[in-house]
Amino acid sequence: MTSTSHTAINPATPPLNGYRAPGYVQGRNALLVQTGAAVFEPRGGLLALGLIAGAHYVDCTPAFVVTAQRVLDLYFDGRVQLAAPLIDRPQAQVVAELRREGFPIALTYSCEAGTTPACGVCLSCRDRSAA
Ligand SMILES: [Zn+2]
Repeated sequence: MTSTSHTAINPATPPLNGYRAPGYVQGRNALLVQTGAAVFEPRGGLLALGLIAGAHYVDCTPAFVVTAQRVLDLYFDGRVQLAAPLIDRPQAQVVAELRREGFPIALTYSCEAGTTPACGVCLSCRDRSAA
């Protein structure tokens, strides 16, 4: 796999024309899942990912969750469960619910460029402004 590969981008999403976010980390969610699971060893537990519908990265898809669970099952014999309770909900719906509940969204940050203020052009910034 090359550093410019599109294999990490969900092919079901609109074309990205080679765009690769400045702060993009290949395999980030796989790393987080394996790290979290290691913490549960040996008793097991539930890992929850904050994945939402329409995310652009392959490790934010239902297929990733199913595949990651299979890998966890190999290591932990079913003692570590992976959940993505928001994966069928678009970001706008999640944000609307958070606003209704009084969650301080203004205190959150998701820019992949890591700039202050947020860059406004990376995928996370574009997703955020569309929500
Ligand atoms: Zn940004």
